[in-house]
Amino acid sequence: MGERRWQISLWYVLAAVFFLVLLYSYGVHEAPQEISYSQFKALLNAGKVTDLVLTPEEVQGRLTDLEVGQILSAEQVAHFRRWGQREMRFRAVRVEDPKLVELLEAKGVPFAGRTASTWLMNILSWVLSAALFIGIWLFVLRRLAGSGGPGGLMAVGRSRAKVYVESETKVTFADVAGIDEAKEELREIVEFLRTPERFRRLGGKIPKGVLLVGAPGTGKTLLARAVAGEAKVPFFSISGSEFVELFVGVGAARVRDLFEQAKQKAPCIVFIDELDALGKSRAINPLGTHDEREQTLNQLLVEMDGFDPNVGVIIMAATNRPEILDPALLRAGRFDRHVVLDRPDVRGREAILRVHTRNVKLGPDVDLQVVAQRTPGFVGADLANVVNEAALLAARRNREYVTMQDFDDAVDRIIAGLERKSRVMSPREKRIVAYHEAGHAVVASLLPNVDPVRKISIIPRGIGALGYTQQLPTEDRYLMTRSELENRLAVLLGGRVAEEMVFGDVSTGAQDDLQKATDIALAMVSRYGMSEALGLRTFESERRSLFLESAAASRRDYSEAKAAAIDAEVERILKLAHQRVRELLQAHRRELETVAEWLLEKEVLEGDQLRSLLEQCAAQREPRTAAGS
Ligand code: ADP
Ligand code: MG
Ligand code: ZN
Repeated sequence: MGERRWQISLWYVLAAVFFLVLLYSYGVHEAPQEISYSQFKALLNAGKVTDLVLTPEEVQGRLTDLEVGQILSAEQVAHFRRWGQREMRFRAVRVEDPKLVELLEAKGVPFAGRTASTWLMNILSWVLSAALFIGIWLFVLRRLAGSGGPGGLMAVGRSRAKVYVESETKVTFADVAGIDEAKEELREIVEFLRTPERFRRLGGKIPKGVLLVGAPGTGKTLLARAVAGEAKVPFFSISGSEFVELFVGVGAARVRDLFEQAKQKAPCIVFIDELDALGKSRAINPLGTHDEREQTLNQLLVEMDGFDPNVGVIIMAATNRPEILDPALLRAGRFDRHVVLDRPDVRGREAILRVHTRNVKLGPDVDLQVVAQRTPGFVGADLANVVNEAALLAARRNREYVTMQDFDDAVDRIIAGLERKSRVMSPREKRIVAYHEAGHAVVASLLPNVDPVRKISIIPRGIGALGYTQQLPTEDRYLMTRSELENRLAVLLGGRVAEEMVFGDVSTGAQDDLQKATDIALAMVSRYGMSEALGLRTFESERRSLFLESAAASRRDYSEAKAAAIDAEVERILKLAHQRVRELLQAHRRELETVAEWLLEKEVLEGDQLRSLLEQCAAQREPRTAAGS
């Protein structure tokens, strides 16, 4: 493994430095015994020295024996004696002595010269300090790099694509809520990773690759980590997007390395996040080929084909755009098991809120079920955000615990971006929005079998939404009758019709409503068989494969004439609904105006307030209708 190799080489450097230091100090210790020049001269005259080396500064040599009488001090003799007979080396600093060489020749003592510089020492000290410096430098670098991520972060090679290894993710299925079906499907994988022998013995076929498909924030990454955590196996992860900017060939090498490591650590999980960045269909590439991505993808395919799933390596990948993946990735023996993570329904949302409020102090009035009802369409990440935001709000408000008010505000905040009360809307715009929303709300209140209005707001929010009318609940219906669909259409058109009636003009604010209304009308005709003109035949396959291999997906299974008939029928349904809403609102213009004026004043209207306003209007009308009849 990269990390170990790296650490060992660092230890080598440190050990070498240490060794050199030792050698150096040992060398110093072994330096010859220092004697005075006069002692040297006396020894020379006594014939007790040999092997002399002369430099301009000093004389070095060896004593032949220690029977030197009074020439050396007792201490010096003891010193020489400690070194043993053969190595009684000495040195003496030279004084001016031009006759020395003559004397040496006369005595017949062998001698040699040497240049002044002690080159060995010089080089040694250079190498030593350089090695020490490099060692410390590397150590510091290592520390800095290591502090950048979670425990097991490691960089394979020098590139930016990182393989993250967690020997234990500590995430379990208990941390994942609201996507029970996906969890159920992955339980088998967990079982396999826990006891691979059992599966092997029975010859069971284990999928090599599991593809998690779901909208951003639905918990794909979380779920993959939870599988590793449940199975207590190492988790190797890498993100597809990191490969894209690499040099050619590096990505492929990285993939090879990843699988190499994974095989050594089996059983384990290899997780490729954002597979779409890497595995985009090779066909859809406007700028010609992207060599690097393609090479990396090819390497991935090669690796996936080249190993036996029974070694215990499970490859998981996540994407939110399965339709753009290269078909080769989805073939049998590769990512042939697909697990879809749906947006959570109301019970799922409540469960997710419970997971995230485990460590949050909740006030007695907090009802997570109501929060869940208010957040249709939210994914796990949004709900985690709601809880966090609510806790922050409560802290800012100096509360002991988080109250329902904090949750309400947090939801409002996250629904359409931060409230921008400071944004100035022209009074005319504000009037239009107020009547538009009042139109939705009044229609919703007047029709039977419609989700009750929870809140209306004309506070401008982030991009797109100028106001909103929130109904409760707005999803989690498994069956809807035709009249319910028609009522829903009416509520959607209520905003537009109110604008027409009051201002004699229409704004762009109804675009989203009209889109949704069109979708509903189209579905009624083409899927639910709710149009007399076209009968029970459906015109669109509901169960379209998630992973279409080609553009054949958009092929129609009906004629041009039928298409025209469908269009006509959709138009008819919308026109009828429009007519109906117009009549309804004309009959209740007073309600519309009362609600709109209230909204203009207060900006926000709660469901209960709306109902009491409407009751007041009805009470005022009653005497009149009584008089009229
Ligand atoms: P994805 O990979 O699908 O974009 P993530 O797994 O990164 O989503 O989710 C982001 C965060 O949202 C998670 O760390 C978790 O806190 C929260 N979250 C998402 N889905 C769930 C879920 N089903 N249950 C609990 N928490 C969730
Ligand atoms: Mg993710
Ligand atoms: Zn609207």
